Amino acid sequence: MPNINKTDEQWKAELSDESYFVTRQSGTETPFTGKYWDFNKEGFYSCICCNATLFESDTKFDAGCGWPSFFLPKNKDSIAEKSDLSHGMSRIEVKCKECDAHLGHVFNDGPKPTGLRYCINSASLDFKSND
Ligand code: FE
Repeated sequence: MPNINKTDEQWKAELSDESYFVTRQSGTETPFTGKYWDFNKEGFYSCICCNATLFESDTKFDAGCGWPSFFLPKNKDSIAEKSDLSHGMSRIEVKCKECDAHLGHVFNDGPKPTGLRYCINSASLDFKSND
């Protein structure tokens, strides 16, 4: 169970329409349209819903897919992975463990050292600069 449980109405009031659609309704933002797919500042990315730190800029890479991609989460314990058989595909969904926000999916075609590609919606993230 996530630690943060809010009603749909609460999430809707707190989030932008796009972030609500992605995080609370397992939506996907249109590729090449989000805030962070083509963004390379140094810092970290937290959950747009609950502020938990999820990814760091030094694990971000350009996967060419139009979504921000990371080869490693900041802390495995902050991420929940779950089988997702929707849309006729077998994928692994990535969620924020703290608040159950849908973040994106993880695939096995990432770069070294992990070989993983965490394909994450910009709308589920909030970037914070290191300085
Ligand atoms: Fe969260």
